[in-house]
Formats: sequence, structure tokens, C-alpha cells
Amino acid sequence: MITAIGQSTQPITSNTLEKSIRDFPEHAESGTCPDSASTDQTPLAFDSRAARPCAAKIPNPEFSLPDWRQSLRDAVTDPRELLALVGLSQLADRLPDNDAGFPLKVPRGFVARMRQGDPHDPLLLQVLPQLTELNDAQGFVDDAVGDLAALAGHGVLHKYAGRALLIAAGSCAVNCRYCFRRHFPYAEELAASHAWREAVACLAADTSIREVILSGGDPLVLSTQKLTELTEALRTTPHIDRLRIHSRLPVVLPERIDDAFLAWLSGLPLQRVVVIHANHPDELDASVGAACTRLREAGATLLNQSVLLRGVNDDDAALAELSERLFAFGVLPYYLHQLDRVRGTAHFEVPDVRARELVGMLRARLPGYLVPRLVREVPGERAKRPL
Ligand code: SF4
Repeated sequence: MITAIGQSTQPITSNTLEKSIRDFPEHAESGTCPDSASTDQTPLAFDSRAARPCAAKIPNPEFSLPDWRQSLRDAVTDPRELLALVGLSQLADRLPDNDAGFPLKVPRGFVARMRQGDPHDPLLLQVLPQLTELNDAQGFVDDAVGDLAALAGHGVLHKYAGRALLIAAGSCAVNCRYCFRRHFPYAEELAASHAWREAVACLAADTSIREVILSGGDPLVLSTQKLTELTEALRTTPHIDRLRIHSRLPVVLPERIDDAFLAWLSGLPLQRVVVIHANHPDELDASVGAACTRLREAGATLLNQSVLLRGVNDDDAALAELSERLFAFGVLPYYLHQLDRVRGTAHFEVPDVRARELVGMLRARLPGYLVPRLVREVPGERAKRPL
């Protein structure tokens, strides 16, 4: 049997609650926590001594950001380099010979949040190619959520009433190994590739659509200029009054939320919703908190969606802390998705019975608004299915 890096016969539990946030950019300023007796000025968004989040420690957003395009270009793409960066070079001989057509990509700022020398690190396991991805697993297919059947036009998915989704970009800042679109034919189906014309014509023809969802890939890898072209084109569709952006960049590349982007976002004549994507509390350092603050100041409602992943966040303490930190950053936990059964991801699957048990544990320890909805996407259904 192939053994994956990070898998063992011992149950993997989260020991993250005592972990402080590392490698916060030196140029970021720390706030202070008025309800803490400590005078410690360490720029933490999470008070590890009190084992609770501290909203007041969200840093002042007024600092100069690194150039996000440069950060994107500098992403780690060599699995051996990634292992060396986290002190695990000895595991290089357990890497797969090929990346199953889905190469490693991870920004260095995200790597800096990983624990040194820990093959079970929940951030590392989300991005490192594994030998187990090459195993065939029954029921795991290329298009697990029926995206291709839902295409309503070039790069436009229409699954649910009143909403249409644009496949705005064909790449991401990070390649998540569990991704439900890891086999999506982006080369053929990209709304942005024809200057938005076909996609916008499709939206204009259906006056029942009130909300446009930008997805991908990740729409925020597009330049702000490209996003502006889209929203200019949408001016011809007065029935659309809401723009929802699904993006992992506020978490993995928070410098993307720069002044030009915020000027675009705050100037939109539409309601704005940004759905970020964090799976584990260790992803949420102070730089992410600052990005969330900037998004809220630009008028965005912030929600989070997570994917339940074996060995990463199938632990009630980790999920509870994720909700607490999200709320400290002004983000509501929205969905906890059961894994989409995409080829190459079977090792991440958590049984439904365990998923329900975890959500029951969250209900027992959190206020209701911090308990995400446990759902599964079922191809052909007109809404996510609650579990
Ligand atoms: S950011 Fe989203 S779309 Fe991109 S690889 Fe990760 S899960 Fe997939």
C-alpha cells in the first residue's frame, strides 16, 4: 500500500490552538487588546495564552503591501523546495514522480504559516502532491459536481435560481490538492477569454439572474483592469444587482487586496459579497485579518467556506477555532462542504457520520451563527444539499 506523506496509523489531531502566528510581515502594525492585561506587543491575531481570538489585535490596515503580482510569480512550485522550506527534505523520496496533471503551487506567505518539521501540518497537507492521488478510487471522477452539464454559455455556469457563475480565471494563487475543479477544461471554458462579451450576453439574456458569482480558478488572479472591464460590461444588465466573488487570495495572498482593487470594489454600483476560503485556523494570520478589514471597509459582506478534509480539519477544536478567528476578522462561517468526489482526492474524504458528529460538537460549543452549514453539492440538484 502506498503511504502518503503526513499519513500515519495514529489519528491526526490538531495541536494548533497553542500555535502563535509566525512570520507576520515586519511592515504590518500591531493593534493592542484592551481586554488583555498583557503589554506584549507581539503582532498576534490570536492570543495563544488565553486560547481565544482577540478581535482588537487585528492590525492597522494602513501599511504598504508587497506587490501581489510579484508574490504570485514567486510562488513555490517545486515540491522538493517546499519540503526544504518546512524542514522535511528527508521526505522527498516519498513524493510522486508526477503531479497528476495538477502541479504544486503555493505562495511563500502561506508556506511561512506552516509548522517546521511537521509532516502532518494542516496547511502543508492541503498543497503537497501525494502518492495516494495516483490511486484509483471508486466513485471519484473528473467532474464530480456536474459543471460541464451546467454550462449555459461560454464560461457561464447556471445551476441555481437567480444566480449565474462566471468561470473568470483558469488559474489560482494556490493549487489545493482537494480542488473540485482540478480537472476542469479551463482552456476551452473561460468567460474572460473573449473580453467577457459572450458571458455578458448570456447574463443579459436571462433577466431572472440577480447575482453574478465570479469564480474560477480564482477571479482575483485577474488584474484589476480586467475586473473593471467586466463590471463595465455588466452595466448593460440592469437586472443584476449583486456581485459575489469567491476567492482564496485574501487568505493565501492577502496583499492582493491592494488600493487599486479596493477602489474598484468600493466603486461598484452593486452589492458586494466576498466569500473567502479557509479550512484551518492556522491559515488566518494577522495579514489575513488586515485584508479582511480592508474588504469590509470597501463595503463587502464577508463569508467563509471550508472543505472538510481528513487529516486537515476533521477535528472539532480546529473547526471551532476556525470559526472564532473568522468572526474576529469580521467573516461569518458560511459553508462546511463535504468533499466533492474528484479523482485523486479520496484520501481527504471524511465519512458523513463523522461530519455530522463534528457539526454537533460545534453546536455544543459555539453560538449558532458561528456554526457553518454542512452541505454537499449533488450534480443536478437546484441547491446545495444540507447534511
Ligand atoms: S483556490 Fe479554489 S479553485 Fe483554486 S485550487 Fe484551491 S480550491 Fe481549487
